[in-house]
Amino acid sequence: MERRNTMQKELTYDAVMSYPGHPSADDIYRVIASEYSTISKATVYRNLSLLADEGKIGRVESFASGGIHYDKRLDRHYHGHCIKCGKVVDIAVSYDKEPSFKVVSQEDGFDIISHEVVFVGTCRECRKKEKENGTEGIKD
Ligand SMILES: [Zn+2]
Ligand SMILES: [Zn+2]
Repeated sequence: MERRNTMQKELTYDAVMSYPGHPSADDIYRVIASEYSTISKATVYRNLSLLADEGKIGRVESFASGGIHYDKRLDRHYHGHCIKCGKVVDIAVSYDKEPSFKVVSQEDGFDIISHEVVFVGTCRECRKKEKENGTEGIKD
């Protein structure tokens, strides 16, 4: 039983590491289920959550999409969320430990240890598609 659990966790970890970009739990489940059809969705979801809690994979919560995405990058970095396809991408903006916006006072005594920023926009692929559709006009 213990061995099986470890194996399933490793499968989940490997799936995140080999997935391009920032997969959702469903994306990872689909990859694993295509090879191991007996694995349950709940198992994959639980392992993703465990791996993120242990700091082995990153977790990106996108408020814009309302979903959770996983990340193989562990260093702190910012994300962009595509409003067209829902994809999460890395944004090449240097991460400031001290954000450029100033937190004036913490009247409620809240101690800030980190922050997250999610940029909202359209990804390269979606912009490319829009451009193509725009120049070719509407086909029927
Ligand atoms: Zn997109
Ligand atoms: Zn990322």
